[in-house]
Amino acid sequence: MISKLNSEQQSAVTATEGYVRVIAGAGTGKTRTLTHRYAFLVNELGISPSNILCVTFTNKAATEMRNRVRRMVDMGNVNDLICTYHSFCIKVLRRDIVRLGYPESFVVMDESDAHHLLKECYEQLGIKRKDISYRSMLAYMALQKSELYPQYISMFLHSTDEALRQDFVALGDDSIEWRCFVRYLELQRGGFMLDFDDLIYFATYLLEHFEDVLNYWNGQLDYIMVDETQDNSQRQWQLVAMLQQLHRNLFVVGDPDQCIYEWRGAKPKSLVEFDQNFAPCTTIVLDRNYRSTPPILQAANSIIAHNRSRIEKNLYTERNAVADVVHHHAKNEKAEGEFIAQTIKQLAADGHSLSDMAVLYRSSFNSRFIEQALVEHALPYVVYGEVRFYERREVKDTIAYLRMVDSGDNLSFKRVINLPSRKLGRAFMERLEIVAEREQCSLYQALKGNLDDPKLNKRGAVEFVELIEGLRAQAKGLSISALTERLLELCGLMTLYRDDANEERVDNIKDLISSMRQYEQINVNEAEVSLTKYLQDIALYSNIDRNEGEGCVKIMTIHQAKGLEFDTVFVAGMNEGIFPNDRTIRERKREGLEEERRLAYVAYTRAKERLFLTESEGYSMQVRMDKLPSRFIYEAGEGVRHEGRMSREMERRIKAVIEYSNRELESLSQPTAPVKVGQVVHHRYFGQGIVEAVDESKSMLAVSFDNQPPRHFSFHAIGPILHTDF
Ligand code: ATP
Ligand code: MG
Repeated sequence: MISKLNSEQQSAVTATEGYVRVIAGAGTGKTRTLTHRYAFLVNELGISPSNILCVTFTNKAATEMRNRVRRMVDMGNVNDLICTYHSFCIKVLRRDIVRLGYPESFVVMDESDAHHLLKECYEQLGIKRKDISYRSMLAYMALQKSELYPQYISMFLHSTDEALRQDFVALGDDSIEWRCFVRYLELQRGGFMLDFDDLIYFATYLLEHFEDVLNYWNGQLDYIMVDETQDNSQRQWQLVAMLQQLHRNLFVVGDPDQCIYEWRGAKPKSLVEFDQNFAPCTTIVLDRNYRSTPPILQAANSIIAHNRSRIEKNLYTERNAVADVVHHHAKNEKAEGEFIAQTIKQLAADGHSLSDMAVLYRSSFNSRFIEQALVEHALPYVVYGEVRFYERREVKDTIAYLRMVDSGDNLSFKRVINLPSRKLGRAFMERLEIVAEREQCSLYQALKGNLDDPKLNKRGAVEFVELIEGLRAQAKGLSISALTERLLELCGLMTLYRDDANEERVDNIKDLISSMRQYEQINVNEAEVSLTKYLQDIALYSNIDRNEGEGCVKIMTIHQAKGLEFDTVFVAGMNEGIFPNDRTIRERKREGLEEERRLAYVAYTRAKERLFLTESEGYSMQVRMDKLPSRFIYEAGEGVRHEGRMSREMERRIKAVIEYSNRELESLSQPTAPVKVGQVVHHRYFGQGIVEAVDESKSMLAVSFDNQPPRHFSFHAIGPILHTDF
């Protein structure tokens, strides 16, 4: 079995005892080494699978790993220790959570459960969503939990001692956020509900506080192996450290260049410093890439070399080139989708299997134009990790409202009548059904014609009819996109989405609206771009057959693609602002940009033989500007073949934008202000001025000229525009 591995990989497999770390780039066989090591432990050393913990990051990766191991090992029916952190924590909790006063049947909360509890807290404390959105409250509470671990468990959730609970409450301030947090914890406790963060906190807590629990797991886990450790959080490292105490057989693999969850607390440094915390440690470096051909590897090496905070390594491959890496520039999004679909068709015609092809993108709203192109070309596809664009809740809600304006079918009616809540309950709906049955008409017509019926005459119902009728009256004079924008504001859906913990909802809605604008442009010569026609046209995209799995093109976000590989990879929507994502850069500056770049590195290294980087012109509603090609295309180096005509002007602009942004990031990462308050400065246009204020956290300074109110500049103006040296 191990003869199929190279000698470094073999040494990683056979070094079964003690602390072993594999640090290596993408596609060098880390996961393969890990699965072979599992098989070696079972088949050669006779260790039982129930004593080997093997942790990875996503459910998808865990399933994949389990399947690979099964092919080599007779697992009997024990295999549930090849899993994610979350599912391992659930196992720990199921066994011993009773010690914390929780029943074995505790509830694992999802997003909607969290909203439910918050709603209750808001009602009880009189908080308005417009004052504090659910999203920011959830973020606040997550932060509190991480900072107040373990107190929030020991003093509050686990404690029945009222004085201790009061001490916990006194840890916070008198803010409404804190009171809401405390109330939320009470409700969680009342329903024995744990959110995703709680799972790891509670499991860690049990191991820390109950020696026999720790001893049990220490005794069980003879060997521990962890894949993708570059994305481990502090808490996950802590958990692993506790679990390995007895046997001290810990094998970790990772690639610091592929850390893409720093924003969620990943600590890639811990992998780099592993040898200090777990000594003595054997480190194995793999540098032969088995996955990709030379042009792809060259592009990947070239892009990641632009990151400053990294340990240098250079991968090589002995595979033969199949094709160049191609950058395809299209005139608009439709043409970009068209290029992808046509290329896939051509490859399929040449005998390549659709399931070996993947389209990756930065943010989930990007999937819309790709899905449309694939549907138009009758190419079967599956979206990994999430639902298809036109089946996403916010998209369906919006379409249902449009349907109400257009025709008013019963399905749409039922979807939106209480969205947002109009307090129309079961009795109301039952009455309405009876009336509609009697009058042989739709629910909406029944409502509209019988608003004087005492059971139907509710405030919410009257408002709903007014809303729909109002929109119907306006619909004639408005384009579909403008109607949709108005509708979303008037009915209150937009507020609902803006509040949502899931920021992607708003992006998806914006993308839906921009797709409507394109639809209007394309159909501009038609006698009439009617809402009816639009709704019929897009029904095509939501009613497609669901042929999952085999024989399908796979489309997914880059985050979902971690650890996977495909013969052909398209990275679509490669535009400045979208990828790299401008929100990330704004929030986390250079570190944000470097994380985006690692994401590009992950994307490029998924490809085995063919890699296409695609992007297009046009206005982006998400970024609020005309799109430009991403810097990540140019950073992939000279080997990339550029296709598609781009104007000189555009080439010039992209260069200028990248230069500007780099300079800005440079000055933003400067820790101290280069000027002091009171200092005299000279501006290229405004002349001599005095520095009035310096804000280092925002990298801003205020300068007044000629006793005018101060103007504000970012630090990067110093040097090229503002001079201090005279
Ligand atoms: P990533 O960083 O993307 O997670 P990885 O380092 O885990 O990558 P693997 O997925 O294990 O890499 O391996 C990449 C590809 O190379 C796989 O198709 C694997 O089968 C192949 N491979 C790895 N090692 C060898 C080897 N010694 N001989 C032949 N093929 C190999
Ligand atoms: Mg891997």
